[in-house]
Amino acid sequence: MPRSHAEALVAAKSVFQSALLGWYRIHARQLPWREAPSLYKTVVSEFMLQQTQVKTVLPYFARWLDALPDFAALAAAPEARVLKLWEGLGYYSRARNLHRLAQALAARATPPRTPAEWQELPGVGPYTAAAITSISFDAQAACVDGNVVRILARLTADATEYRDSASASKVFAPLAQALLPPAAPGDHNQAMMELGATVCFRQKPLCLTCPVRKLCAGARQGEPESFPRLAPKQMEQRTVVRVWCERNGALLLHRAPPGAKRLANQHELPTAEHAGLTEAVAIQGELIARKKRGITRYQITECIHRAPPQVARAATRPDLVWVPLDQLDALTLSGPHRRWVAEILARRTP
Ligand code: SF4
Repeated sequence: MPRSHAEALVAAKSVFQSALLGWYRIHARQLPWREAPSLYKTVVSEFMLQQTQVKTVLPYFARWLDALPDFAALAAAPEARVLKLWEGLGYYSRARNLHRLAQALAARATPPRTPAEWQELPGVGPYTAAAITSISFDAQAACVDGNVVRILARLTADATEYRDSASASKVFAPLAQALLPPAAPGDHNQAMMELGATVCFRQKPLCLTCPVRKLCAGARQGEPESFPRLAPKQMEQRTVVRVWCERNGALLLHRAPPGAKRLANQHELPTAEHAGLTEAVAIQGELIARKKRGITRYQITECIHRAPPQVARAATRPDLVWVPLDQLDALTLSGPHRRWVAEILARRTP
């Protein structure tokens, strides 16, 4: 990054800090984890917000706090209940890690207070550790994620091309740390996040209303949107063939084994392989839905075909279960699968 812009920014850091914090104190969105904040609310919200937008998280957060109001309640809850409450948010390892984290905290007299100690807990990386400890314990730890990288790359008009956001985060971490004020570091971190979420948009940033515009080299140069420069993502195309198989008012689903890395104990429509078919045979059945979704670097096309009759007769694998259609709601289905099943069932309702 251009040293002169970064050095100028650090030299003006008290102006930067007070402009940012002053703006945040007036314009911060009212979010449930910011009202009467607690360590528990901060931890739950930080886990839910990993890779998920605020507006998606809001109803989940409210339901979660009603059902599991503190670490003790979460630690004591069965995993099936935890996963059910998380259903639809995706990336279920977050829910399992949060559950294990609550159990680890329940075994201690007091919670840890430093980022290094928090990073030893399940599911807590450098960003989450910095967010939790700066907000809850005033730790001097700057949060650096894609939002912060975008703001700092624009403030310094950094034209370096980075492989991805993670490698850019490493480069910007010292600058983020240098800009952190000794007082209220948690508010500063939240203000940076808020600026990224509500003003310094990826496209069409609202520079005219930005509290730190006077310190922004990218805005001065006239093309802030061109920062940061990230190498285009290489997306890999994949096709998954699934089957739709019904018998006597029940739907055949695949339940991932308890030790599965992804989706443990959750249900999905079976793949051709789960149903004992080759893909070539499965795709001969009527195509009843084609869905696209992106997971990390994969662009996945999911094709759901009506299963041939032999699948129902031969569905004896222990990880295949028949679920009565009127009991689907009680089951933990991964989010997209619940939508697809509901959509397919709705289509044939008169
Ligand atoms: Fe982002 Fe514009 Fe503010 Fe610079 S002036 S930080 S580009 S919103």
